Amino acid sequence: MHDGAQGEPASNGCESTQLRNQFLETVFLIAAGLRKREELFAANPRRYPYCNELRLGIQRFAALHAQHAEDNQALRNLLDGLSESGFIRTWCTRDLSTWIEQWTPAAREELGNLECLELGPFAEVGGSFFNITGDCLEFLRLNGNGNTDDFHENRVYSMLRDAGQAAYVFGRKFLILHPTLSWEERTAAAHANLAVLEVDQLDQGEVAHIDGAWVQELVDTAYERAPLGLKVCPVCGWTMSLHGLRPMCLDARCTVRVDADEYENLPDVPPNSYRLRRGVMRFIAKPGILELQIAHKVQAFGLPFELWPLLDTCDILITLPGGHTIAVDAKDHHDIDRLVRSIESDDMREAMAASEAIYVVPADTPPPRRRAANRRLAHKPGYSIKTLRELTQHLKTEMGDA
Ligand SMILES: [Zn+2]
Repeated sequence: MHDGAQGEPASNGCESTQLRNQFLETVFLIAAGLRKREELFAANPRRYPYCNELRLGIQRFAALHAQHAEDNQALRNLLDGLSESGFIRTWCTRDLSTWIEQWTPAAREELGNLECLELGPFAEVGGSFFNITGDCLEFLRLNGNGNTDDFHENRVYSMLRDAGQAAYVFGRKFLILHPTLSWEERTAAAHANLAVLEVDQLDQGEVAHIDGAWVQELVDTAYERAPLGLKVCPVCGWTMSLHGLRPMCLDARCTVRVDADEYENLPDVPPNSYRLRRGVMRFIAKPGILELQIAHKVQAFGLPFELWPLLDTCDILITLPGGHTIAVDAKDHHDIDRLVRSIESDDMREAMAASEAIYVVPADTPPPRRRAANRRLAHKPGYSIKTLRELTQHLKTEMGDA
């Protein structure tokens, strides 16, 4: 399912709007700077992504922090992270509310109900790389700066939704299974000659309902020509390029897994290939890898399942032999506190009329954090957080009981 954040309230003209406006402007400069820096990396990985907005945003934040921080320790904490990369690592990887937690009560009260303070981190750092998050893009979008990644993601989502359930399932799976297309594959897909493509093991008959012209339009909308000289990312299947000596994908979690020597040995992206546009890869295909892993596990048990039922009310609905049903959502990120908050106001189990709702998190989410999160969900019976391995174990147990 898709997460969303709220818009900023309009300023109300009282005295305290000054600090609010200064803070919002500063956050905007930082968010826009992070995005520009990431775009500069992508456009020319060999050049240092010098970025005025980020520099300026950091300076303004330092000035506000110096003015409103409660004590010297807070200032020292800031000074430790004033270089661009230090700032990204120290500040941008934390919830926005923590940026002001060392400010005076008066200053915090003035900012109190700014909705951007609900946002999670703006960047994820892996090794010496960073990638901006959906929250960063959401903040920019809500603050009037349209973003091409969001634009492409939204266009593809509305194409999928408008086409109905069978096409939705076919199309979303197609994008997850094909982060890149060779020229031959793209030509075949554009002629709805799907037999040329790798067999989709999860097909449950939806391919029979697909209109060729629609597939062609989907491919045109979702893909772009891949630049020359790229390698195939061994983690997500998208493209990797070198920044100086460092290989980069659009997700920091891919980037940390490949070093310069390994990069040399990766397969080349063939000339004339196409790849998913960044926003489609980032928001649809990359999180979808975990969704399909879950579906493959369920299929291996021989259990009936539906992918993205009711146009994505959950990711997978599993039916056990005794009629027990489980609505599953895959959450391919590590912000487990935010996940708990979103589950608290979620009604996935009720919306799917399912016996249970399970949110699957990445395998490397630390067990103590998962246990703590499940304790916090104790007041919401039928809702839990599990890894794929725990879900698998749970299915085995439930099948044994049935
Ligand atoms: Zn990757």
